[in-house]
Amino acid sequence: MTQEQSPFWANELKKMGALRIHDGNPRRPHAKLTSGKCSNGFFNGSKVIENPGRLKEICTLILANNLNDLVQKESNRIRIDRVVGSAFGAITMAHVMASLLKAKTGFTEDPDQKKERMELKRFSVAGEKVLAVEDVVTTGDTTRKTIAGLEKKGAKVLPVIVTLVNRSDMTDTDGRKIIAFIDHPMPEWEPSECPLCKQGSKPLRPKGNWDALNADY
Ligand SMILES: [Zn+2]
Repeated sequence: MTQEQSPFWANELKKMGALRIHDGNPRRPHAKLTSGKCSNGFFNGSKVIENPGRLKEICTLILANNLNDLVQKESNRIRIDRVVGSAFGAITMAHVMASLLKAKTGFTEDPDQKKERMELKRFSVAGEKVLAVEDVVTTGDTTRKTIAGLEKKGAKVLPVIVTLVNRSDMTDTDGRKIIAFIDHPMPEWEPSECPLCKQGSKPLRPKGNWDALNADY
């Protein structure tokens, strides 16, 4: 995203209830994540994908701003046969991206709910050039599993991955450049080690406490 677009869109996502970054004011509560850890930021992808028009607008901007990374050197043009995300969070984004690229779509899924691997069960991708997308990159673990699932079925996965929000401090994962709409590291801490807790800020689950997180302090 360009520098002019970045603050505008960070604010738009905040208005949608999707993105919250702590401003450092200790009177303001901070995010307690599902894992129980604390963070200075929070992203809820569902608040974006429930608005198809906005999601399409965002995906259009991502493509427009990153053409150089998506053009294949050997052919000097964009050739993406399919866009694949992981179930459930990235299915909708993959669908919208595929629609814009006039490509096919698909998704990987956790076959046994053990969070060990992601499998491509419903689509044939052998020999296809595939772009992997993710709603949010936290550790990159789900994306790595999705790519492994795609390669197992013979896909040629592009050397970039596209995400709405990169909340890790990584710029790439396994040599694949991370293209993010919002690129903002949001560290996670055990409550006992959380600098915001130490300053007296209260940890709150963002869902249900959005107004408290966004009030004037
Ligand atoms: Zn904390």
